[in-house]
Amino acid sequence: MIHIDASQGEGGGQILRTSLALSMVTGQPILLDQIRARRPKPGLMRQHLTCVTAAQAISGAQVEGATPGSQTLRFTPGPVRGGEHQFSVGTAGSVMLVLQTVWPALLLADAPARLTLQGGTHNPMAPSFHFVERAYAPLVRRLGVKADLRLRRCGFYPGGGGEIEAELHPAGVDGLQPFDLTERGALLGEHAECLIPGLKRSIAERELEVLREQLGWALDHSAIPVTRQNEGPGNALLATLRHEHVTEVFCSLGQKTRSAEAVAKDVARQVKHYLGSTAALGPYLTDQWVLPLALAVWCSGRSARYTGTDVSLHAATNFQTIMRFLPVQIDTHALPDGQGVQVTLAPKGDNAA
Ligand code: AMP
Repeated sequence: MIHIDASQGEGGGQILRTSLALSMVTGQPILLDQIRARRPKPGLMRQHLTCVTAAQAISGAQVEGATPGSQTLRFTPGPVRGGEHQFSVGTAGSVMLVLQTVWPALLLADAPARLTLQGGTHNPMAPSFHFVERAYAPLVRRLGVKADLRLRRCGFYPGGGGEIEAELHPAGVDGLQPFDLTERGALLGEHAECLIPGLKRSIAERELEVLREQLGWALDHSAIPVTRQNEGPGNALLATLRHEHVTEVFCSLGQKTRSAEAVAKDVARQVKHYLGSTAALGPYLTDQWVLPLALAVWCSGRSARYTGTDVSLHAATNFQTIMRFLPVQIDTHALPDGQGVQVTLAPKGDNAA
């Protein structure tokens, strides 16, 4: 039994999700307490409960403490099974975070999984569908797995109603193969898009105009995609930067109390921050990429490294949580001239190739 004090470090939902994922991967039961102790509404919320339910369904786990507001959870997993599953957050809570909870375990499952997830697809403080599809998923595929993600409908706070489908295959006979990602490579393309279902198109035009001004991007580098049926209302402004070795997606969400200018300037700030560094990954990928990569390092017994613009408290906390479960040492070193951080993952002891 691994006992995790979930109030440590960043003290948010990521400790729960990473612990569930690695409990399933390693077969180790977990006892989590002080769950989300550092959040204004501590304990398990609907989105976190859906992560627990999803993890329970794919691993046949025995679970105690999975009730709203609970700060303690016991989770004893069984073998991870692929197959068809449908999970609904029931609110606008993020389905992308549910996906990221179960995907690591499904990388090592006995069969492919087909998931239908319903809830929010573009949420504050969570990866958007487009971020996962364009930035995160291609890196996971490079570890040696097939995966296909489809956006059926966008879902925004507070209505939710979004839906995605994910077809996730386990690693093939060669297992997961880690790789280094220390350079982003040449810039291949950059574009902005504004999702605006159920709201005035003029908001999107204003957001894109300000974003183009801020970044010096041409008019044909921006688009307002067509709204799907039963979508919205909601607003997400996205900037996608495609480099040779990695794609990054920066997102900001509109709200009633937030001007179109503020939304655009937030995305521009994130893009400028990324372009001000030579590191391969932006701050969010830096905290998310470590988990699938650690699995590949563990499975293969080979080291790997990557560079990121920043190691946030989220990232540092995730590194600590992963090291509680896997015999993988995770170290960080500052890059010269304030260009970011290098993260090195090395197998420990007998596990090294
Ligand atoms: P937590 O706050 O502990 O529930 O974790 C939130 C997760 O969402 C972390 O993995 C963050 O990297 C991720 N995240 C938050 N905002 C974004 C964003 N704009 N783009 C991508 N990922 C994000």
